[in-house]
Amino acid sequence: MAKRDNTDISKRYRNIPPGTSMESFLIHGRHFTEKWDFRHHIIPPQSSSVTYRLDKTERGAKGFQEYASGDAHKTSPIYIYDRLDEPTRGMLEDELAGIEGGDFCVAFATGMSAIAAALGVVLKSGDNLVAHKTLYGCTYSLVTNWYPKLNIGHAFVDMRDMAALDAAINDATRVIYFESPVNPTLELIDIEAVRAVADRHNARRPDDRKILVIIDNTFATPYCQRPIEHGADMVVHSLTKNIGGFGTDMGGAVIGPHEMEGQLLLYRKDFGAALAPKSAWPMLVYGLPTLPLRLNHQMETAMQVASFLHGHPKVARVVYPGLENHPQFSLAKRQMRDTQGKFAPGNMIYFETVEKDPNHPHNNIKVVDWIAKHAYTLTLAVSLGQLRTLIENPGAMTHAAVPEEKRRESGISPAGIRLSIGIEAAADIIRDLEQGLARAE
Ligand SMILES: *Cc1c(COP(=O)(O)O)cnc(C)c1O
Repeated sequence: MAKRDNTDISKRYRNIPPGTSMESFLIHGRHFTEKWDFRHHIIPPQSSSVTYRLDKTERGAKGFQEYASGDAHKTSPIYIYDRLDEPTRGMLEDELAGIEGGDFCVAFATGMSAIAAALGVVLKSGDNLVAHKTLYGCTYSLVTNWYPKLNIGHAFVDMRDMAALDAAINDATRVIYFESPVNPTLELIDIEAVRAVADRHNARRPDDRKILVIIDNTFATPYCQRPIEHGADMVVHSLTKNIGGFGTDMGGAVIGPHEMEGQLLLYRKDFGAALAPKSAWPMLVYGLPTLPLRLNHQMETAMQVASFLHGHPKVARVVYPGLENHPQFSLAKRQMRDTQGKFAPGNMIYFETVEKDPNHPHNNIKVVDWIAKHAYTLTLAVSLGQLRTLIENPGAMTHAAVPEEKRRESGISPAGIRLSIGIEAAADIIRDLEQGLARAE
């Protein structure tokens, strides 16, 4: 698959002046939409209609036909029923497809339902997926607890090693799946290198056995990284996180090439889990327009916080793609770029406390528990990408579904702490961390 250049959003939609930036596009979208008569609204109305009036049988029949053929997302779709397609969610999908540089987006009720759909439309009994050894806990559980029941196999490899990836692929492999940056350890996977491995195998395969490269881009968001430009076939997101941005609604999305659109729409129709229009609306009206502002501020703060942690005597290790000591710093600089080309290492930090016995961390719990009780700007909570800075202990919380020895293999130390930087002042966050770390022995 050829890499694509999607930097000029005006080439994709009418009415957008050449050279328009992602910042402006996220506020104004397609300027007005033909999805519905929203032309005179500044803010699109929040649609709320389970079913739609059909003028005559013929219109209903045509609507179902177009839907099944994957043409349902065109400019003036025939709406039939919310779970099939509807306008508020449709506008959000247009913008997400636009900023990721894919042909389409299908939005789901949660990130997990989007991941299950992206994998579900490709994999069938007897197939196999190869995934990076460290995965979001529920994705790991999907692959290891549920797919074996469907006779779908898996192999976990360290995808920083392309020879290991190459060796893990066999005739049954249909999907290469990973996150980058990886949750929670923030190592990076080289998307172009993975693409090259997939292409080598695909050269000898018929079309219906080609390996697809699917990436979870939740941590970076399309503001910081656009994997399709680097050769990924499909991108999945938890919209619950940075894209939603305010922590009010859950959502997920799959973005990809036109060939997959019909299958994903059918999957969503039949398995359900369509994103509710009431949840799509705040993402469209608050989340996307402020994404660049929020992330720019959060990245500046993350850099300061990571630098503070890096020099701290009670911190054994800090991983932030923006720090020069990140083992893959040159890859970070190549792969994580905002649409203006500026280095964009994201708002997530991972660090480990110094421990006497790393298997039975003591300081880690003391620091996190002190913060949970006393810190003003840090909140002990899972999830990420909100206005508030969130702190959590992945080994005990988000990645608890991963068995302990697997966690260790994946580099998730019991002493690990994950930080999602919010929009508070950097000095306040650092003061809270400093006071928390002072509790470590
Ligand atoms: C949160 C998260 C998910 C799951 O998203 P939900 O919206 O909670 O279902 C998937 N991948 C990553 C990287 C996440 O952080």
